[in-house]
Amino acid sequence: MRGKTVARTKALDKFMELLDWQNLGKSCFVAAMALGLANLFALWTAITFSFTDFGDTYLDPYFATMALVLHTSAMVFWTLVLLLGFNLYRRNRNPDWFSYLVLAAYPGLLVPGAWIYGWATLPAGLILVGSVLVGLVLFELKLARFALATAAIFFSLLVGLTISGHLPYAPLFAVHPLSGDQVSRYYLVSELVLASPFFVCSTLIAAMIIISWRKREDLVARLSMTDELTGVSNRRAIINTLDHELARSQRTGTPLTLAMLDLDHFKQINDTYGHDAGDQVLRDVTQRLEGALRQTDFIGRLGGEEFLLILIGTSPDTATRALERCRRAVSATPIQATRDVSLTVTASFGYCTVQPTAEEDAHTLLVRADEALYAGKAAGRDCVSEWQPA
Ligand code: GH3
Ligand code: MG
Ligand code: MG
Repeated sequence: MRGKTVARTKALDKFMELLDWQNLGKSCFVAAMALGLANLFALWTAITFSFTDFGDTYLDPYFATMALVLHTSAMVFWTLVLLLGFNLYRRNRNPDWFSYLVLAAYPGLLVPGAWIYGWATLPAGLILVGSVLVGLVLFELKLARFALATAAIFFSLLVGLTISGHLPYAPLFAVHPLSGDQVSRYYLVSELVLASPFFVCSTLIAAMIIISWRKREDLVARLSMTDELTGVSNRRAIINTLDHELARSQRTGTPLTLAMLDLDHFKQINDTYGHDAGDQVLRDVTQRLEGALRQTDFIGRLGGEEFLLILIGTSPDTATRALERCRRAVSATPIQATRDVSLTVTASFGYCTVQPTAEEDAHTLLVRADEALYAGKAAGRDCVSEWQPA
């Protein structure tokens, strides 16, 4: 049951990542939307035309039939487009011409529909705004430009012909329901019914796009803070953390220990067994360190085979014990560096502890940890050494 829910949530997540869809999928999405609209428009026109007083009083029978034919043709057309799209999907193809076809047909079919109902209507306005949104945000620039140009040409042509008197305005209506003192309630409800799907579609698309953008933003933020090889914080992130934790330690009065560690004779591992073996050692050492630290401590890779550890709330004594635990975790058992090679690796640790009353900055602490580390290297490696003032 839980597995099913997770699968459904994953499918929904994937569906909502509209920006990551291929152009074929996006085009089918637009086609499905247009098919839904055509269905609704055809149904509404047929009901109005056949069963309401509104149809008898206000509609022009010729243009009402024409609107019905237009909407029904649109239904057939979008159904065929969708079938074509599914066929292309099954054959694993994603041709550009399919997107061009959809983006030309979308305004091509909707703009004449808007003309029949009249330009100064809510649905007509939403069609024009919606075409721009769909073309510009969903697709790349060349397709968006094409969609905008197609919409603009259809729109200018029909508006031009209407203004110059070559086409009637809103010819669907024998008597316009908003002319003179006649305001038909039915007309106003129709406006709402016809405009609602545009609201729903625009809101859905906007939500899908914002969700995709947020996910991308999260990913970029995560990548910019993570060391690719080991998965722990990178240099920038761990130094950021140090700044934050130092400020917190000074505010709350908890001591903090900064430790720097460097693997011993790491160059030899690379030189003898290859870079991949070295990389595997770095990954394994990271896991061992993470296992040896407390949940509240921090680890980051400064670069190469150098790591920084931030231990929160530790006196020099507990820090030594915690770092000894880390040192043993690294060297206690051999690391499987390649399928055939397992190696015992050691590391040297240098650390300094700051009392919250001291006004130290991150740079001073880093220099001290580094000095302590190199004192440890000089003393024979595989040890934990505390920084001593000169
Ligand atoms: P010491 O005990 O004095 O620290 O000796 P060392 O050999 O560890 O020190 P050195 O700084 O000379 O060597 C560091 C080596 O780390 C050199 C470089 O080839 C290797 N290295 C740096 N980054 C990476 C990496 O991402 N992957 C691998 N496999 N090796 C790396
Ligand atoms: Mg080293
Ligand atoms: Mg080094």
